[in-house]
Amino acid sequence: MAEPMLKFVHQPQERPVKRPAAQRRKDFGEIYEGFPLARAEEQAARCSQCGIPFCASHCPLGNNIPDWLRLAATGRLKEAYSLSSETNSFPEICGRICPQDRLCEGNCVINKDFKSVTIGAVERFITETAFSEGWVQPDMPVTEKRLSVGIIGSGPAGLACAESLRSRGYEVHVYERQAEAGGLLRYGIPGFKLEKHVISRRIELLQAQGVIFHLGQEIGAGKGALSFDELQKRHHSLFLATGVYKAKQARVPGESLKGVVRALEFLCEAENPEPALNSAGKRVVVIGGGDTAMDCVRSAIRQGAAKVTCVYRRDRSNMPGSRQEVLNAEEEGGEFMWLAAPEEFIGCDHVESVRLKEMRLGVPDSDGRRAVEPTGQYSVLEADMVICALGFDPEDLPALWKRDDLAVTSWNTLKVTKNGYETSIPGVFAGGDIVRGASLVVWAIRDGREAAKAIDHYLSTQSTQTSEGVL
Ligand code: FAD
Ligand code: SF4
Ligand code: SF4
Repeated sequence: MAEPMLKFVHQPQERPVKRPAAQRRKDFGEIYEGFPLARAEEQAARCSQCGIPFCASHCPLGNNIPDWLRLAATGRLKEAYSLSSETNSFPEICGRICPQDRLCEGNCVINKDFKSVTIGAVERFITETAFSEGWVQPDMPVTEKRLSVGIIGSGPAGLACAESLRSRGYEVHVYERQAEAGGLLRYGIPGFKLEKHVISRRIELLQAQGVIFHLGQEIGAGKGALSFDELQKRHHSLFLATGVYKAKQARVPGESLKGVVRALEFLCEAENPEPALNSAGKRVVVIGGGDTAMDCVRSAIRQGAAKVTCVYRRDRSNMPGSRQEVLNAEEEGGEFMWLAAPEEFIGCDHVESVRLKEMRLGVPDSDGRRAVEPTGQYSVLEADMVICALGFDPEDLPALWKRDDLAVTSWNTLKVTKNGYETSIPGVFAGGDIVRGASLVVWAIRDGREAAKAIDHYLSTQSTQTSEGVL
């Protein structure tokens, strides 16, 4: 039989079809179509089956990429799905929203001369096929352990941990302050990157598996909230996956003017037919250069903003966000002002303009990123709405939960044992953004899965001790 792989020399890279920008601007639907079967097989067959696959070592989940590419290229899709889902709880989500250019695909060895294998699109194809063929089923436990774990937060870290613990037989309760589960997958990442039904489908599988969701349930202080201490009494172990939500400030005059809003306030309602923060017909200025800023630019365009300008203090090559997302935003009509930073938001009661200081690049810092300094030149940009997308810090959890024994770092992220995910409180584990700081979905999934192993180990040891009368 002819070698099915190594087709990269003759077969050029092709990405999934992107809907035309003029059409994309009108709705919040995903912009990429999935691969059809023939294209997925053809693209998977470009892989050169490296002995040391750098794609896999740069995937936070250590996905067995060359093997499932080979299976996909040879039409063995059920086996490809089985292998891919062994290491990834939500491959269809990662296939859509991982920044592949910085992870697996950015490290694909054929990338230099031949353009990488389109790993993310094939991963999405394999899992979507599995869903449509009915191969994705709830991972039911073989035996029930009669031990329960409480998880605070239903973002990707909490959900991955829940799935993994439930399949091991634990009773799993997920506590979520929002009305629906999903964390930033639902209340942050816009539908044009990840449609909401993709998340709901996973939540339904978790419910079918027996995971119990307590939605609209705050853990903290205040009316209707459950205290952390109460939660500790209810469960044998806890996993904290609360993410980071405190928006960083621009720290310039005029920040409290009406019309100056935070990125998540804007994004979490942006797709509603009548959003509280509506940019339709407005001149919008977005401050920031990360992926959240791009999401704001592109959401404002879809709401019908008159003009959307993204202001970033470094230049295009030094921005933290994905190049592809900038390109998508430009195609859709977003404008960029590089090397500019806000000096003041101007207006009486409501913002009317932004005074900007021009910046220039200085010497690179220890990470290789160029520092910036003002040139002394200024300009003014008219604005009816300013969206600040400057990143997020953690809440002060020890204060919120009145637990001084919950140790935090100087950035207020939770301290955990190295590779063990256990916090300073015995039996209480943590992962995702609340440990890493604002990060990525794929890292949150990894943390959830690894923490589940650590919790399983912890509880197995505890229950052995109990049955032996040690406790
Ligand atoms: P979260 O997803 O933040 O979930 C935490 C959950 O805990 C939330 O549902 C919250 O309501 C709940 N919670 C918090 N405190 C309490 C409490 N006291 N009681 C009850 N519930 C509580 N990453 C990517 O990989 N690709 C992308 O394209 C991408 N785009 C992004 C776009 C935006 C706008 C943002 C903000 C982030 C984006 N990210 C992206 C980052 C990614 O979303 C996060 O890294 C990831 O969601 C972190 O997962 P998590 O489970 O740790 O936390
Ligand atoms: Fe690439 Fe993300 Fe999939 Fe890993 S999980 S193979 S990094 S797309
Ligand atoms: Fe295939 Fe690229 Fe991974 Fe090599 S690095 S195994 S070519 S996907």
